Amino acid sequence: MRKRDLGWDLKEYLLDKIKKSGGWVNAHAHLDRAHTLTPENFHLGKIDFQKKWALNTEIIKNSTWQEIYDRMCKGVEKMLEQGVYAIGTFIDVDPNAKDKGIKAAQKVREKYKGDIIIRFINQTLHGLIDKKAYEWFKVAVEFVDIIGGLPSKDKGKEEKHLDILFSEAKKRGKMVHVHIDQKNDPEEKETELFIKKVEEYGLQGKAVIIHMISLACHPKNYRKKIYKKLKKNNIMVISCPTAYIDSPRYEKLVPFHNAITPVDELVPEGITVALGTDNINDLHKPFTDGDMWMELRVLLEACRFFELEELVKIATVNGRKVLGLE
Ligand SMILES: [Zn+2]
Repeated sequence: MRKRDLGWDLKEYLLDKIKKSGGWVNAHAHLDRAHTLTPENFHLGKIDFQKKWALNTEIIKNSTWQEIYDRMCKGVEKMLEQGVYAIGTFIDVDPNAKDKGIKAAQKVREKYKGDIIIRFINQTLHGLIDKKAYEWFKVAVEFVDIIGGLPSKDKGKEEKHLDILFSEAKKRGKMVHVHIDQKNDPEEKETELFIKKVEEYGLQGKAVIIHMISLACHPKNYRKKIYKKLKKNNIMVISCPTAYIDSPRYEKLVPFHNAITPVDELVPEGITVALGTDNINDLHKPFTDGDMWMELRVLLEACRFFELEELVKIATVNGRKVLGLE
């Protein structure tokens, strides 16, 4: 029997294409808090999103910079095993984490120089409005390659949060990666606000949205309008497929969709989409193990997106674009 009569192995096909296109890019992770799960804290994973952030903060607060370094190395090793070419990882820099993540990141960069490209991005878990949090943000932006943000931590003042991020990015000529619309909730319209701010600061081609899940909760004509503006402003998107596929059941009525970045609609609109693992083996995602194929597989299944060449781009060149490597 000829080989093709035994079925087309799409995984083998895609993995080969990904390798030939330069290798995987994990465009979004939090390696400083990867591998923080223990038998003691596992049950705490059931509590709500906001409280989990607080617990993760405690873990970082109680870690030495060497422990953070060890966890990051474990994460990088897992990427190297899979032939990952580049990784974009957030590191917490705030009144709790202080500069421990920066110290660890410097050592990690030295250790893996020549093996893998790592782009560091600051997490703003304490928001940017709080005076102490802002002081640490100013320390972080000196070190990081890309300026990171999380406007929902400044609830009601999301616009101000973006103003601080974007003015700093503009001044330093750096890219921004921002967690946006991540709760799969029709109340969220952060993407619209993000676009407005990109236009205001002229950050076209330098601004990247992480997640953008809640956009799928809005009606088609609204989504279409947003897609046009994303394309016009060359705003790129990172999808972390397993990150919120566990979106909790609730009674709000929204257009039918899976809790994932609407990749099947974004790509045909000409918008660059990249792939990330987000949290690995921590309270948020205890079972996530940093497997890039698993992330791509969930993306293509949850969106029923079978465009093979586009999937290869999502896994490779688009990742290089969002990290500013192309
Ligand atoms: Zn994240």
